[in-house]
Amino acid sequence: MRCPVTQKKLCLAILLCAVVAFAQVRDPLPVPDIPGYRTLKCDFHMHTVFSDGEVWPTVRLNEAFRDGLDVISITDHAVYNPRQADVKIDLARPHELIRVAAERMGIILIQGIEFGEGDIHANALFVTDPNSLRSNELLVALRGAVKQGAFTFWNHPGWRRKVEWFPLIASAYDEKLLHGMELVNGATFYGDAYPYIEEKKLGIIGTSDVHGLIPGRGRALTLVFARTADAAGVKEALFARRSAAWMGGEIWGFEEHLRGLWEGAIKVENPDLTWHPGLPGAFLRLRNLSAIPFRFRVVDAPKWLSLSGGEIREEKTLGVPLRIAKDTPPGMHSIELGLEITNLHVGPGQNLRVKLPLRLEAGKSIQ
Ligand SMILES: [Zn+2]
Ligand SMILES: [Zn+2]
Repeated sequence: MRCPVTQKKLCLAILLCAVVAFAQVRDPLPVPDIPGYRTLKCDFHMHTVFSDGEVWPTVRLNEAFRDGLDVISITDHAVYNPRQADVKIDLARPHELIRVAAERMGIILIQGIEFGEGDIHANALFVTDPNSLRSNELLVALRGAVKQGAFTFWNHPGWRRKVEWFPLIASAYDEKLLHGMELVNGATFYGDAYPYIEEKKLGIIGTSDVHGLIPGRGRALTLVFARTADAAGVKEALFARRSAAWMGGEIWGFEEHLRGLWEGAIKVENPDLTWHPGLPGAFLRLRNLSAIPFRFRVVDAPKWLSLSGGEIREEKTLGVPLRIAKDTPPGMHSIELGLEITNLHVGPGQNLRVKLPLRLEAGKSIQ
């Protein structure tokens, strides 16, 4: 029997609906690669209904795709599972439920778990059997995770109490069970814990630790500088401390990596400037190709040149007026402006410093 026209239309509508249901808009969240490494945008700390989160694991995956992420890990609590009357707690399930879809979307999925003993929490990534790690003793759980080859990090280090190198953390660290630390968790930067990064040679992590819904661009992230864009590449990079935390327009990382971000993101549109007598100055155009804003102040410039700091907003061009003194020597000047990038932090109280090479030709008839 042939399908009547109305039925055909219905079939087409159903087919279209099915296609639309899978269509998702992705924020490209552009962040440059750095020399030798791919820059991957990662969230290594998220919850679902399998512990105290409010969403099903597929929501986490869809949010990650929408927000332009490359890597995620669902890290439900090992023993804090307040929804167990409604949801059968199997900590391998969140990962399993989205494994195929993540592959289809091109998102790298890493199996993880969060442990807690009192207010001291840690995450373990790359675990192979999370259910075998369901202990409320931190050291027992971490030992098991490390045996499974995990990369582990100390979560929200100053949560509910003033941060210090707690005896439990010290024991874990001394046993080589702790590899990184959340410098950023959600909207909180743990500045008091920042010195531990260098002192203890820990990896820098930033995470959303989200429990509800994420509204869109702006969650705290870890940038991982990986040799290869796959789980093995992420793991190697984390153990090698090639990572940075990004939250609210601020990035904390190591100097060589943040320098790579600046150099990859900022293009001087007119590095060869000319200035004619009678004009008030020249106009420098700095283009930001990335989703990272860069705020700068000038720390070094020739005496005859002055300019103000500013913000090169994400994916925008900033026009910077250069004021040029009347007694500027005529001719071609190859100069390097010294800038401090005040939102790129390379250590406690230390910001990235960069050089901006320019050539400026000054007219001859300067009065
Ligand atoms: Zn926690
Ligand atoms: Zn958590």
